[in-house]
Amino acid sequence: MMVKNAIVIGAGIGGLACAAALARRGVAVTLLEQAAAITEVGAGLQVSPNGLAVLRALGVADAVQRGGAVRARAVVLRAEQSGDTVARLDLTRLDADQRYLFVHRADLIAVLARAAAQANVSVELGKRVRAVIPGDLPTVELEDASTRRAELIVAADGVQSRGRAALNGADDPAFTGQVAWRATVPALGDPAPEATVTMGAGRHIVSYPVKGGSAINMVAVQERKTWAAEGWHHADDPQNLRAAFSGVRGPAADLLARVGDVALWGLFRHPVAPVWHRDGVVLLGDAAHPTLPFLAQGANMALEDAWVLAQQVTRQDVARGLPAYQAARGPRVSRVIAAADGNAWKYHLRPGPLRWAAHAALRTGSRLAPG
Ligand code: FAD
Repeated sequence: MMVKNAIVIGAGIGGLACAAALARRGVAVTLLEQAAAITEVGAGLQVSPNGLAVLRALGVADAVQRGGAVRARAVVLRAEQSGDTVARLDLTRLDADQRYLFVHRADLIAVLARAAAQANVSVELGKRVRAVIPGDLPTVELEDASTRRAELIVAADGVQSRGRAALNGADDPAFTGQVAWRATVPALGDPAPEATVTMGAGRHIVSYPVKGGSAINMVAVQERKTWAAEGWHHADDPQNLRAAFSGVRGPAADLLARVGDVALWGLFRHPVAPVWHRDGVVLLGDAAHPTLPFLAQGANMALEDAWVLAQQVTRQDVARGLPAYQAARGPRVSRVIAAADGNAWKYHLRPGPLRWAAHAALRTGSRLAPG
């Protein structure tokens, strides 16, 4: 029998999309989010046609496009020193309904939160989950010492997932030897709707417009031996960013000069969780399979997960639906994660034959879209 009620943990992109998808299929959904408010956190992300297909199925694609998304025209890879174009992925060649968007995370979250509310999802903010307990009637324990039960518990609680800990024990992420700064800078004039990857030895910068073209999102990745903390909330001094990218020329140099607030975090490789479900508890999005940002697929994979999970547990009972969900999603997310891993080193090569060969491969390859 189809699931009647569910708890979703985490009002990120995956949790909100899953809550809305389940509720639209007749499930009574409670969404628990630790933050006291759904506010402007994060910066830009990219919605590729696969993610947009889920947004369309949820009935929110137009709202996302009206809500500050920029329709991307191209992804352009440039050499840091010469400014020469190494490769250009022309996104105007996509079919009319296959749009590629640059979106501010807060804008996407706002649209998904409205969709969840319209589908009668009960959203409870300021509710931090302490533990998830699989069982006949799976349970969540909250930090406020209360407990909740539902037939299905979806842990969409990101890289520090309590659900992942319950099903798989402690996660063992490995520092990649790369850190990333993220900043948004007010746009000057009317920026081209393109993502630019400025590639240099041991470092690269990705930039693209968000917020209807009024701001530029910038992510700057540097190889380094020293560790930096994982997470989205670590402010840094913009001078450190400028020092790390001294010598960069062209439009990226102009952006670097204008950076004000900047966040720094370490990039960690997490193994895909071996176990995604047990006794009514299931993992979704980063909770199951965090990915490096080099293919811009973290949010898109969470959206795909949300749609497939909602389908599987409403077409059949939970005991059959959860293995079907992992079987459908596991191989795909593993391939995507491997492709993202593969992009990083290609962007950072020192001059020489290997760089020449890698850039030639980038020119002809499809694994271009950066995060
Ligand atoms: P997430 O987006 O990480 O969402 C997880 C949610 O669960 C969060 O809302 C979190 O507060 C909540 N949560 C976590 N633990 C608990 C708990 N114990 N109890 C209750 N709630 C809990 N990606 C980008 O590409 N660009 C960005 O600028 C960017 N900014 C981000 C900012 C923040 C604050 C976060 C949390 C993530 C950000 N990401 C960003 C990551 C990106 O959104 C995800 O990689 C991707 O969308 C997959 O989303 P997800 O729903 O699986 O997880």
